Amino acid sequence: MSVPTETWVSKTDLTRFLRCPYAFYLVDRGLVAFEDTVNDLQLQLIHEGIRFQENIEATLPVRKITPEDLPTVFADESIRLFGAPLLRNAALQICGQPDAIDTANGELVPVEVKSHQDVQRSDELELAFYWLLLEPYRTRPGSPRGSLILRRQGVPTPVDVLLKPDRFEQVRDLIRDIRTTRVQGVAPRICGCTVCSGVMRDEIMRVTRDKKDLTMIWGIARAYARHLEAIGVTNYEDLLGADSASVVASLRERRCFVSIAHVDSWKHHATSYATSQPVVFGGPLALNDSFIALDLEYLASDTIWLVGLCIVTQGGRYYRALWAESAAEEEANLREVAAILAANASLPVITWSGNGADLPQVKYAAKRLALDHAYAAIESRHVDLYQYTRKALRFPIPRLSLDEVGQYFGIPKVSRITGGLEAQSLYLEYRRSQAEERRAAIKSQLMEYNRDDIEALVGVAEALASLGRRGQC
Ligand SMILES: [Zn+2]
Repeated sequence: MSVPTETWVSKTDLTRFLRCPYAFYLVDRGLVAFEDTVNDLQLQLIHEGIRFQENIEATLPVRKITPEDLPTVFADESIRLFGAPLLRNAALQICGQPDAIDTANGELVPVEVKSHQDVQRSDELELAFYWLLLEPYRTRPGSPRGSLILRRQGVPTPVDVLLKPDRFEQVRDLIRDIRTTRVQGVAPRICGCTVCSGVMRDEIMRVTRDKKDLTMIWGIARAYARHLEAIGVTNYEDLLGADSASVVASLRERRCFVSIAHVDSWKHHATSYATSQPVVFGGPLALNDSFIALDLEYLASDTIWLVGLCIVTQGGRYYRALWAESAAEEEANLREVAAILAANASLPVITWSGNGADLPQVKYAAKRLALDHAYAAIESRHVDLYQYTRKALRFPIPRLSLDEVGQYFGIPKVSRITGGLEAQSLYLEYRRSQAEERRAAIKSQLMEYNRDDIEALVGVAEALASLGRRGQC
């Protein structure tokens, strides 16, 4: 969709700006290609979303509407109109093309097709944008609302959404911010988007470090940073000198609600930067030098295709990688894990973020395969090092991913796979591919990737345990 001039804001602009203002700015200025803003898996998901929408539209009767037909169709009919032309609201200088419009004899309710299953804030903002866009075409007043066609278990599911006044306020603010950003640019900040954590990563680290930027603090993203800046806390050094209770009170006036403990945890992180040391502010970690490190690779609600583990005792390290081609092999692997756990009954099982990821997956598999004892054995001895770190520890680095904490402790990596998304995408290629050589190459890359994670997990666990022994933890 072409945007008429710099002041016009399209729905695509809004979506991109919501994802990341800095990446939006770079693409808008042509400094980064759109392809650099999404990775392979995201591209795959985009294509899947387009296919989902095309499948819905393919079932509809074809009706070509020209701009000249619009006033009549909008005012006199009550249909769901797909394929409307590009619409413009000249007063607000916004333009866009809703997936469909329920004309409702002039009420004009926007409809969006989404390939996720739950209503998201961004969906509501897009519908509010479209409600505003349709304002000049509307001939009958209606209560602000929109319709979503979501994908639930692969099935198109209609969901009606009422649009509250604050969503419209937010959309107007966003439209204004997009225009300001186009003219003034926007400061790079720590951000997990594909651009900021990809091609621009080093540059962003340099700039944010130099500025002692607030987003260097774990738990402070753009929104909190803007609130803090508005109350005079411009970088993490300011934060360090601020009284937590006063910060909480000032943020509350801006309808931004955080607790004193929350602000204290930000300050602990600021202290970590100021001293270039880890800062411990929580209870001790119940871990000594013997444990079992566990890391699973899987597709959500599907098979666990790789179990990586390492038994660490004073006698040394014993590694095991269990690959599964089938449900039968997955079951055999889980039985082997249960046997290893039974043979090392006194050792805790450690993961990085297993509470939210690996354990629910094991629970799902155990239920499916009637292996409840395997799940119980892991759960009862599980220590989630990420959860511990989140509540008790900060390092002078912005993020708490295993990768970055591992790097902080100098644990080397072998694999060139950049993260979980790429690993999943490679695994999907492995499943699709018929070429034996390619499959063998992917499998070995994925084994190497999982081994890196196991090495990082073991190394980080040992570092945390030794911090504890030195009385710092
Ligand atoms: Zn970003």
